[in-house]
Amino acid sequence: MQIANDKVVSIHYTLKDNDGKILDSSEGKEPLKYIQGKQNIIPGLENAMEGKSVGDKFNVKVQPNEGYGERNDQMVVSIPKTSFGEIKEINPGMQFQLNSQNGPVVVTVVETDDENVKVDANHPLAGVELNFDVEVMDIREATSEELDHGHVH
Ligand code: ZN
Repeated sequence: MQIANDKVVSIHYTLKDNDGKILDSSEGKEPLKYIQGKQNIIPGLENAMEGKSVGDKFNVKVQPNEGYGERNDQMVVSIPKTSFGEIKEINPGMQFQLNSQNGPVVVTVVETDDENVKVDANHPLAGVELNFDVEVMDIREATSEELDHGHVH
């Protein structure tokens, strides 16, 4: 069986940046399961999976426009420290979930001063070229219920 739309695919993967730093991996965990063609995974990886078979091992490089998008500098904003309520210790690199007009967003603290906190609401992997090492572990037909829901059960 080859990977095509509406197949449930199980993969092991390791994701690295261009410096070889590991950003994410399924190693030591259950394989990642997703439905091909349902946008469960980023487009660049999903496209590369098409036509592969169980046992195939390969590398795929995904550009930001097919990954987590380009960085948008307008998503770096200063907000008053009072927005963080009771939290006293706010340091660069910390991540918070804030409520915006468009619902909750995860932001990363860039810098702070006495009154304001500069936060970055870009996805942490926005603008990053993604290097996946992938091994296909299993392929099966999705059930009709899984296809209705758009995710693996
Ligand atoms: Zn479901």
